[in-house]
Amino acid sequence: MPILRTDAIVLRRFNFRETSLIVSFLTEEFGKVSGLLKGIRKDPRKFASTVEPFSHNEIIFYKSRHSTLHLVSQCDIKNDFVSLRKNLGRVGTASVMMELADAVMPAEDRNTEVFGITLRALSELAVTTKPEKIETIFKIKLLSLSGFKPHFDSCISCASRYLEQAKFSLRFGGLLCERCAAKDAAARAILKGTIATLLFIERNDFNKNLSLGMSAEVKNEIDMILNLFIRFHIEKDIKSQK
Ligand SMILES: [Zn+2]
Repeated sequence: MPILRTDAIVLRRFNFRETSLIVSFLTEEFGKVSGLLKGIRKDPRKFASTVEPFSHNEIIFYKSRHSTLHLVSQCDIKNDFVSLRKNLGRVGTASVMMELADAVMPAEDRNTEVFGITLRALSELAVTTKPEKIETIFKIKLLSLSGFKPHFDSCISCASRYLEQAKFSLRFGGLLCERCAAKDAAARAILKGTIATLLFIERNDFNKNLSLGMSAEVKNEIDMILNLFIRFHIEKDIKSQK
C-alpha cells in the first residue's frame, strides 16, 4: 500500500461505526478522495485537526488497492478559516460550495485547478463583503473546470458563433442559435450581458473576476441559470441551498 501525502479540503464528513469518521476530501494531488479516520471521535487528539467541513488540511493516507476508501493516518490543520466560521451566512455559502464540489467531482481524478479555485474561494469568502459574488464565481469556475462545462461561446448544436438571437437550452446545456432554437421548445431568451459575464468569468482568473461589475439583472439571471443547470445536469438538488 503506497503512503501518500497531499493538501486536502474537507468536502463532507459522516460518522462511521462508534468512533470513526469517513471524510470526502478534495485533494490537491489526487482529486476527490474518500478517507477513513479511525478512532477520531473517541480520541480527537489522535489527529492534529478537528477535520471540520471546508477546513484545509495536510493528510497522509494509505492508498488501498481494493477499495476507494483509504485509511488516513495523519491529518494536520493548515487553515480552519476561523473568521469565516463566525458568520452563519458565510458558513451556509461555504457549505453549498462544498456540496457542489462533492457532487461534480469524479473520484480520484486529479484536478489541481479545481483544488486551487476552491481554496481561493474559501479564502476570499473569509474576507469579502460580497459573499454572493464569490459563490457565483465559484460555481461558474467549478462547472467549467469539471466535466460539466455549460456551453456559452457558440451554438451547442451547429457551432455557429452568430448568437445575436441565441436562447439558453437547459436540456442541451448551453446556447442555441436563432436557427437551432426550435430544437428545444423550452429554450429561453437570455440577456447579452449574461452571456458576456459568464464567458468573462470562465476565461479570467479569480482576481479579474472579483473586480468585474455585475448589474443586479445579470446577476439574477446568472444565478437562475446556474441553479437550473446544476439541478438538471447534476441530477441532485443542492440540499444546503434550501
Ligand atoms: Zn445553431
